[in-house]
Amino acid sequence: MAPSQVIKDLQQALPDSRFVLQGAEDYDDLNKVYQSALNVEIRPSCIFLPKSKEEISAFLKHVGPHALSGEVSLAIYGAGCQPLPGCANVQDGITVNLSFLKGLAIEEGRVSIAAGERWGTVYEELGKKGLGVAGGRSAKSGIGGLALEGGLSFHSSRDGFVCDSVLNYEVVLASGEIVNANGKENADLFRALRGGGNNFGIVTRYDFPTFEQGPMYGGSVYYFAPSFPEQIQHLVDELQKPDASKDTHLMVSTGYAAMFGPQMMCQNQLYHNSPEENPAVLRPFTSVSPQLDQLNSMRVLSLAEAAKEQAGDSPVIQRSAYFNTTLKADASILQEAAEIYTAGLEPIKPCEGLICSLTLQPHARSLLEASAAQGGNSLGLSPADGPLVSVLLLTYWSNQRDDAAVLETMESILGSIKSRAAARDQLVPYTYMNYAFTSQDPIGSYGAENKAELQRVSKRYDPQGLFQKGVPGGFKLFP
Ligand SMILES: Cc1cc2nc3c(=O)[nH]c(=O)nc-3n(C[C@H](O)[C@H](O)[C@H](O)COP(=O)(O)OP(=O)(O)OC[C@H]3O[C@@H](n4cnc5c(N)ncnc54)[C@H](O)[C@@H]3O)c2cc1C
Repeated sequence: MAPSQVIKDLQQALPDSRFVLQGAEDYDDLNKVYQSALNVEIRPSCIFLPKSKEEISAFLKHVGPHALSGEVSLAIYGAGCQPLPGCANVQDGITVNLSFLKGLAIEEGRVSIAAGERWGTVYEELGKKGLGVAGGRSAKSGIGGLALEGGLSFHSSRDGFVCDSVLNYEVVLASGEIVNANGKENADLFRALRGGGNNFGIVTRYDFPTFEQGPMYGGSVYYFAPSFPEQIQHLVDELQKPDASKDTHLMVSTGYAAMFGPQMMCQNQLYHNSPEENPAVLRPFTSVSPQLDQLNSMRVLSLAEAAKEQAGDSPVIQRSAYFNTTLKADASILQEAAEIYTAGLEPIKPCEGLICSLTLQPHARSLLEASAAQGGNSLGLSPADGPLVSVLLLTYWSNQRDDAAVLETMESILGSIKSRAAARDQLVPYTYMNYAFTSQDPIGSYGAENKAELQRVSKRYDPQGLFQKGVPGGFKLFP
């Protein structure tokens, strides 16, 4: 059956107003909702905007056989913040846009979040009650990408990955059945969802534990490249302490943007979970000198304000791509990675609109211990591996004609960093799914045993492989 006929049938089976077809007045606005222009350029035949889990169930029952036979492809969109091309949009297919699934229920010690919410709203609502949750750092970011792929929060050193905190996933399976996955019900699915991406179903609600959350101290400090090695050393020193702080969020970056001139600039994004101004643990990072004082945003702020600052202003949608790897917390290899990055950027600096950074995000030992204590996930990391540092290559640029140059340069820089780290026994075989590009293999990086378990769970809950064959975007479990 032609995709257009599949869509016509769906319009008969479900309220017609839920379907926005190419050419409709609001189609372009609804397809302009991605963080990266690489995803905006993908044009589905139809955008499906369900208003309930029952509508998603009916949709999957109708469309499943057609997606399995290759007549139409599907994509699942949370809030479109993952730049990976095609992970949440599909050319000529049907994109299931979850933005209308709204609502939060705050109960004793728990918040239940509908799949179309964004972290900013969650923090605003919880903040009114003096509560917080270990979610994404950007107010604009969706719930799904983080709760299903790992997720780094302001509280990761204390609470583990975002997916580790999830208490319950409400999921519409390939069959259309709506199930809960938690520590007791469908426990194998629960564990698989913690890091397994969009491979098992469409999640409609996430339950998280809440905690008391008062004001924090945090923000950004900007400085110059000659101080970066010293900042890397401070980062590693803190991570290697036997009593490294669990209340601290450290993220250090070096990068390039033409507006700052030809030299590399550096940024520390620092948070401490108490209102104490400039606590001792942050001072090595806040006192870096010289710095651009006029850009320093360190202050006492709420969780919602911190997430708002992280989201930044809404820039014109740029082309963007993420690549990543993970290294051991060793100052010398991290410094070498920064040098490889700085030298490797030279050929693409003339590309219009280039803004890029190498961002180091620690996975303290306490993060990995918190993962294990909450039942574990699919990611294949253990406390014995730590402390680790996630190395993210984040790039924005303006023009399609520069795609090949930018992407090849990033591939090459990543390859050099990984081979140097491997040669020095500092490479960790873990790739963070959220920050991975198409050429990377995060699920393979979880290890053979974890991958085999994810495949087993997929066969149990989706025996025909709807979320493998019919939802091609993202990282899949079978070749
Ligand atoms: C400004 C900014 C800040 C960021 N901050 C952080 C951060 O603090 N920590 C961090 O770890 N990462 C961060 N990231 C990366 C972020 O984790 C990803 O962008 C994340 O995937 C966003 O989630 P989303 O729901 O918006 O994703 P989308 O792009 O909509 O989806 C991502 C993937 O998840 C799947 N998916 C989404 N919802 C569902 C669902 N309900 N059911 C099944 N599959 C679903 C999609 O199919 C897709 O494969 C940031 C990105 C940006 C642009």
